[in-house]
Amino acid sequence: MVNPGQPLDKVLADELAQLREAGLYRSRVALDTNQGARVSIAGRAYLSFASNDYLGLAADPRLVEAARAAALHYGVGAGASHLLHGHSAAHDALEQVLAEFVGCPRALVFSTGYMANLGVVTALCGRDDEIFADKLNHASLNDAMVLSRARFRRYPHLDLDALDRALERSTARRKLVATDAVFSMDGDIAPLPDILRLCEKHDAYLLIDDAHGFGVLGVHGAGALSHFGLRSERVLYMGTLGKAAGVYGAFVAGDEVLIDYLVNRARTYIYTTATPPLLAAALLESLSIIRSEGWRRERLRELARTLMAGLGSKSFMMLPSQTAIQPFILGTTARAVNVSARLAEAGILVPAVRPPTVPRGSARLRISLSAAHEPADVQRLAQALCDIEP
Ligand SMILES: *Cc1c(COP(=O)(O)O)cnc(C)c1O
Repeated sequence: MVNPGQPLDKVLADELAQLREAGLYRSRVALDTNQGARVSIAGRAYLSFASNDYLGLAADPRLVEAARAAALHYGVGAGASHLLHGHSAAHDALEQVLAEFVGCPRALVFSTGYMANLGVVTALCGRDDEIFADKLNHASLNDAMVLSRARFRRYPHLDLDALDRALERSTARRKLVATDAVFSMDGDIAPLPDILRLCEKHDAYLLIDDAHGFGVLGVHGAGALSHFGLRSERVLYMGTLGKAAGVYGAFVAGDEVLIDYLVNRARTYIYTTATPPLLAAALLESLSIIRSEGWRRERLRELARTLMAGLGSKSFMMLPSQTAIQPFILGTTARAVNVSARLAEAGILVPAVRPPTVPRGSARLRISLSAAHEPADVQRLAQALCDIEP
């Protein structure tokens, strides 16, 4: 494989060919429409279970109107980084509402969840520190650990005994436990109160990535902290705004000093252009809808029950999940890719997720439910799955 005499494009093309052979080659399709339960690709209509738009807000006319009005006022681009006069009153208002919503003294808005994770972890941890991370954490947390230069240890998924022992052994200056609150490919929820107890026992801090819980879990959709009634100065909370909130961006919430420190030290906050203020305005509208329209979360729970009932004897292939992420396990990559392709032929979009995104042997369909779906949509999916995998 490694052959220094060959031109780069030949080497890369060979590698891509190997990916194709292994069924791991990735490519994109372009939507002709907005995100929603029904989308169109190259003029063909599909019922979609592929987005993270769990509450069906990505194309909500009220968000569109808020963005339009803000564009007329602020223009389109923020024009500069937050620290060099790109920070607007809309960003400020959004941070205040977010902090109050999740129950923390302050919040800081980042461009994306990926950047928020990189920013927080690299600001707080360096060579003398140690990070403890669940094996199934999101890639952005893994990348953040590498970039921080801290020592890190990945413990087996939800194995709190292993975490306890690893924390016990550590002699690091600062210890940070990082975990997804809702695991993005399994839909299961981390036992955050138990993890926080371990952090207290070993004087560690806890970074919670709530990309899939914010808007979905907790009172009025306030997320994982609310779901568990957690409140602690040891907790750094990261929520994303491009999934259930339907827009774009992310935020970190925590105490006053933490946020002040991040403003001064988080490189992915400092060295990048502020997000367009119109997005902050759309998000303020989104947060108001998230809080007031509880039927959207109730609909998600109803759809999950409908899916299980519709699958009947096939329901054992589902991983248990209280969230919008409903994995249907197929095992091999070939089988997952094949079932996904046959669903697409039937006009239903459900992505196949395969290694290395999920462990070998657990390739699956990642069914994403959305408040935009009707129960009949989910019944159609269940029927199609039963027809393909009898
Ligand atoms: C999507 C996701 C992110 C990244 O968020 P973006 O805003 O899309 O960059 C981080 N963590 C988890 C668990 C995610 O699912």
